[in-house]
Amino acid sequence: MIRQALARLRPRVDAARLAQRAGDLLRRRQDAVRVVQWAFVAVYLTLLLLPVLLPLTPVAPAVAARVARFAEIVFWGVWWPGVLLSVLLVGQFWCGVLCPDGTLTEFASRRGRGGKIPAWLRRAGWPLFGFSLLFTWEHLVDAYGRPTLVLLAVGGMTLLALGSGLLFGRGKRVWCRYACPAGGVFSLLSRCAVLHFKVDRAAWDAAPRPQPAPVDCPLLLDVRRLRSNEKCSMCGRCSGHRDAVALAPRAPGGEIATLAAADARGLDAFAVCFVLCGLAYGVINAPGGRLHAWLSALAPALPDWVPTLAAMLLVAAAVGSLLAALLLAAGGGARRRAQHLSYALIPLAGIGLFLGALDYAFMLLAEAGQAVAGARAAVRGVAIAVGAAWSLSVGRALCRRSGTGGVFLAAAILGFAAVLLAAEGHIG
Ligand code: SF4
Repeated sequence: MIRQALARLRPRVDAARLAQRAGDLLRRRQDAVRVVQWAFVAVYLTLLLLPVLLPLTPVAPAVAARVARFAEIVFWGVWWPGVLLSVLLVGQFWCGVLCPDGTLTEFASRRGRGGKIPAWLRRAGWPLFGFSLLFTWEHLVDAYGRPTLVLLAVGGMTLLALGSGLLFGRGKRVWCRYACPAGGVFSLLSRCAVLHFKVDRAAWDAAPRPQPAPVDCPLLLDVRRLRSNEKCSMCGRCSGHRDAVALAPRAPGGEIATLAAADARGLDAFAVCFVLCGLAYGVINAPGGRLHAWLSALAPALPDWVPTLAAMLLVAAAVGSLLAALLLAAGGGARRRAQHLSYALIPLAGIGLFLGALDYAFMLLAEAGQAVAGARAAVRGVAIAVGAAWSLSVGRALCRRSGTGGVFLAAAILGFAAVLLAAEGHIG
């Protein structure tokens, strides 16, 4: 009787069916997706260009300043934290469905010279390198509230996306696959997402003839062998292909928990320790800190950006090295095992990056006269606790798979959580 009562209480929503339908809808309504994409391009270009162009016109300076402030709030207070959180939770739908750079690069690629993708561009590491450079530079020069610098950084990426589309690939998103700086981080975060395009390899191979035309995957992925969210932009164009591909739910962090040791990569482990954790923390929190003050006092004749950059990089290296050492200890001294275990830090590191971005929104609210210190502390406390629990749970699964002890991994996760909790960020 109890079981029957529980069965009645069980939600009637079939998540798998719902996700599959959403994926199929995405494939069927690519026409509507394109309208939304171009609407985003229009909004994006307006927000990017207006704050720079308005001061050059006779429009009142107060109006120009208000437009610039609005663009700053949308770009850095809403867009960036929102996109980071969405990628962490549901995958890279932002990239495949909404991103203006993705739309523009694919558009250019359909009309460009369709050249072969050069070997140097295919090298792994460009997105991560681009992200590290851009992220550090933006914070170093405090570009966020300065429209010309935003145009240089964000608009510069758009120009590169357009250029690569004109030069390489035929109707593809070569930029998104091999070079987009945000993609360097998104490819790690999206492994935590609860949605993915799942491929039934047996159904794919058994599909009756005549078989449909191959999937037009804009990311140039081998859809039949798709096992990871890493590069998938969730555009939905492969949904239902051969009755073998479907958008499907999975456990949060399920892709990491089931990751085989052979699939772990050294570059990803480096990215997790030194970029996602180290650099993201150091760049946001080192300026204005004790180390920064000490370095400034040590060499007062140097321009301020030198000790600022030095402090950022030293803190990033310290956090990254400490985490790498703990992972190595967790892996019993074996580098491959440590690389495997490093993926467990991604949920917490993703939350840390999101909170760093959200701090900017809190700072904007504080500048608008709102009392945000209490709300900020509460949001940070809850989010870091969730991130740490999430990392510990996938870390436990990884430890079981690799047969290594979890004490040092737990120390790495909880230690980084404590560091994030103690961070003062933009508003202190
Ligand atoms: S595998 Fe390719 S076609 Fe399928 S959703 Fe991902 S990016 Fe789109």
